[in-house]
Amino acid sequence: MPDDGPDHGRDDGPAVHDDQQARLLGKVARYTADYRAGLAARPVGARADDAELRARLGGPLPQEPSSPEAVVDALVAAAEDGLVASAGPRYFGFVVGGSSPASLAADWLTSGWDQNAGAFALSPASAVAEDVAGTWLLELLGLPAGASVGFTTGATMANATCLAAARSSVLARAGWDVERDGLFGAPPIHVVVGEDRHISIELALRYLGLGSDRVHRVAADDQGRMRADDLAAVLDGCSGPTVVAAQAGNVNSGSFDPVDEVCRLSRAHDAWVHVDGAFGIWAAASPRHRHLVRGVEAADSWAVDAHKWLNVPYDSGFAIVADPRAHLRATGLPSAGYLEPHDSIRRDNADWVPEMSRRARGFTVWAAIRELGRSGVADLVDRCCRHAARFAQALGAAPGVEILGDVVLNQVLVRFHRPDGDDDDDADALTRAVVAAVQAEGTCWLGGTTWRGRAAMRISVSGGSTTDADVDRTVAAILAAAGDGSLPAPAERRG
Ligand SMILES: *Cc1c(COP(=O)(O)O)cnc(C)c1O
Repeated sequence: MPDDGPDHGRDDGPAVHDDQQARLLGKVARYTADYRAGLAARPVGARADDAELRARLGGPLPQEPSSPEAVVDALVAAAEDGLVASAGPRYFGFVVGGSSPASLAADWLTSGWDQNAGAFALSPASAVAEDVAGTWLLELLGLPAGASVGFTTGATMANATCLAAARSSVLARAGWDVERDGLFGAPPIHVVVGEDRHISIELALRYLGLGSDRVHRVAADDQGRMRADDLAAVLDGCSGPTVVAAQAGNVNSGSFDPVDEVCRLSRAHDAWVHVDGAFGIWAAASPRHRHLVRGVEAADSWAVDAHKWLNVPYDSGFAIVADPRAHLRATGLPSAGYLEPHDSIRRDNADWVPEMSRRARGFTVWAAIRELGRSGVADLVDRCCRHAARFAQALGAAPGVEILGDVVLNQVLVRFHRPDGDDDDDADALTRAVVAAVQAEGTCWLGGTTWRGRAAMRISVSGGSTTDADVDRTVAAILAAAGDGSLPAPAERRG
């Protein structure tokens, strides 16, 4: 090889660049490993407030380049105490899962590989990973093997995707091609939802031009479950294209609509049944809890989250549709949208979600399912439910603490009362004050909600790293906050 000698007109060359990158990635890996190892010990809530974070992350638009290392150092320094330890063992807010070791590592690889997972041609491995992980998922959840699976950002987009397929199918049956002709002049669609549906159903209906309020609402029972007798009455008033959106797993109570009955009644009306099973449908993976979703396989579509109960990093969910043709009509790329799905064995991931260029979400899911196996997924679900029951038992045994409703899954609703007796307003104020005090104290993080018109603390156990000891420490922190005499007395609160 001829020696070109120094060339002052060129870059330093890839060797130096690679070396810098390797150092930086190694440093980030060590930092992240330390962060993860410290999750159980750090305060669970964020310490920095909005103003502090703005001061640190803000500033004028950078005019000149910075070294990658300086950027990463600055990001860590600015963001770290504005983070929430939601990947740790004592985060019980909303419905948020942690991330398993293999899925986190696979997520890093996904970033490092930086694939455009939209088309087979862009990344064959991304396509096959989604295909395989989707097949495993259907088997885990007991859903029809012929269903199609789109890997979405979460259940919100899964609901939108599934309801787009529903819209397509019920209108096609009425002789209307909504993909080609839109909704203007289309036969009206009856959309039936439960009174206690998740707000993302409303978002999906908005996106799809079906209207969030132009729906029939089915009354819910005291656990938030759709009442089958009311559904029957509502369906009697619906003729023509009809879509029923049921729910498996209420974000407050964890309760399940009677999906078996919902499917049976809806079938009789030739309606499409969609199940929003974001976290609750994972009950199907547990022999112990599967009865909660009995009959769910008879629905037409299912929205599922992976970032909640499968414990993969954000963002990850699934839109599953029993009839792949309806799914393809709704979100398939225009060139492929009207083909039979099995004309080609090659999967283009973008056909199954409202996206083109996209992240290779299949790798984390593949890794999580491979890491846990069927028994590990069942164990994850059962363990979270067991912890929820432990919360309910320990808190419910304490004076002045009321558990609202039945604990059927991983969700617990708690309400606090003054020992000397109180009215609803007192208990609402006390409950909110206890939630705020617990959040500020930092042992754990959990949120408040309103359940059947009454304030409640909501505990969701969705992470696989929680132990009995974490539950007990959290119970102690909650009871200490509830028993703290410095919480506002009724007279002060009313000002
Ligand atoms: C969380 C949740 C959603 C929304 O899911 P995202 O992943 O946040 O988009 C929808 N439905 C139910 C029942 C949920 O619990």
